[in-house]
Amino acid sequence: MTCVKMDKKVMMSEREQSVVSQGQATNSFAIVQQQIDAICEKIKVSETCHLRLRECERELIVHFPVKMDDGQAKVFTGYRVQHNDSRGPGKGGIRYHPDVTLDDTRALAALMTLKTAVVNIPYGGAKGAVACNPKVMSQNELERLTRRYTTEISLLIGPERDIPAPDVGTNPQVMAWIMDTYSMNKGFPVLSVVTGKPIELGGSKGRFEATGRGCMFSAQLAGKHLGMSLEGATVAVQGFGNVGATVAKLLAKEGCRIIGVTDSKGGIYNPNGLDIENTLRHKRETGSVVDFKDTENITSAELLELECDILIPAALEGQIYARNAASVKAKMIVEGANGPTIPEADKILNDNGVFVVPDILANAGGVVVSYFEWVQGLQSFFWSEDEVNRQLQAVMDNAFHEVLEVSQREKVDMRNAAYMLAIKRIADTMEIRGIFP
Ligand code: NAD
Repeated sequence: MTCVKMDKKVMMSEREQSVVSQGQATNSFAIVQQQIDAICEKIKVSETCHLRLRECERELIVHFPVKMDDGQAKVFTGYRVQHNDSRGPGKGGIRYHPDVTLDDTRALAALMTLKTAVVNIPYGGAKGAVACNPKVMSQNELERLTRRYTTEISLLIGPERDIPAPDVGTNPQVMAWIMDTYSMNKGFPVLSVVTGKPIELGGSKGRFEATGRGCMFSAQLAGKHLGMSLEGATVAVQGFGNVGATVAKLLAKEGCRIIGVTDSKGGIYNPNGLDIENTLRHKRETGSVVDFKDTENITSAELLELECDILIPAALEGQIYARNAASVKAKMIVEGANGPTIPEADKILNDNGVFVVPDILANAGGVVVSYFEWVQGLQSFFWSEDEVNRQLQAVMDNAFHEVLEVSQREKVDMRNAAYMLAIKRIADTMEIRGIFP
């Protein structure tokens, strides 16, 4: 059997070129660190807490072989990063994507610490990733990769220390393999080692739609604040996966007109509104939303600049940056994705009066229902879907109003307000716990 190291193309995107040309941080973790620095200075966090928050507590890099279907083995690189566990065990998804790096994983772990603090659930932040392309791998290859990666990171994860969940490129089946692998190594079933599991295996009702539902609640709350009715509001959604497709479906049910959606292969536009159920069927059948009947093909970049009321970036980070921010025509952005807006774009959006519901608030619905799933698993007592959705709405409602209150009191945008609220909560916990030994 021969071993082949995975190739990785390094290409500079238009966004990265724009950022480099302006002398700003280019990697996602440096961007999060800059945001943490600014807020720690603003709210006068102690230097020790600040320094702890700008680094990750634990970082595991694993290189491991997986037998592929053709008999060859390939060596993959994976990560599990725990950013900060002051408020509770680590919580954060696992991403399978060919371009993912250690810095991306660190950035996403730090965002999880902030997100769990904004919605005030008892977790820290963590994230995992494997640099692989799940779209070109068979189910058997994905299963072997997942089981080996789980074993490699099993010294860090566990129901009381770090609980993974799905992210880009992973799904409930992957979570089921993680739960099974971890349980086989322990010798007994451990339901609460991961969330986002299939319902049959201790998953929570409502978890699959939770992130999109949380985005929908965020759009409703922001609409109410802005005096904008969702009935008839026009919406563009970048990314048509778990988060993007769900929020599109739910907002359409609320009376919104979804005029454009995109995925990694391109997108579609119809000013009269798309039929989301049929768009989903077309994507299932053809692998993409592109070339759907009665629509015009558009690019993902064009979608961001569509004339619409609500823009929902729900794909990957770094999509709205200095060069395209001024062309955003939406009145409101609800960040379904993590880190879709680069800091210098925030300023432009603010100056143009665009109301941004930031990622650590807008897309927190997923981790909130993951928390419900974890609680249900630990108690072996499961809730109805209505109960899950009702509790989710209460948490999102409370968090939105807490962030809005800080934003109005401190005269800052919603992102800065969310960071201020989160960092204050985390710093307070660090101070109360003190430093061991
Ligand atoms: P997913 O893999 O289900 O879907 C991602 C979608 O984005 C796919 O449709 C893909 O084709 C599309 N995409 C990729 N590159 C694109 C591009 N350049 N332009 C347009 N579309 C593109 O992933 P997901 O779980 O929906 O996650 C999407 C985002 O939401 C990520 O940033 C993730 O971190 C964030 N998020 C997810 C959850 C969750 O519960 N799944 C929770 C919080 C945040």
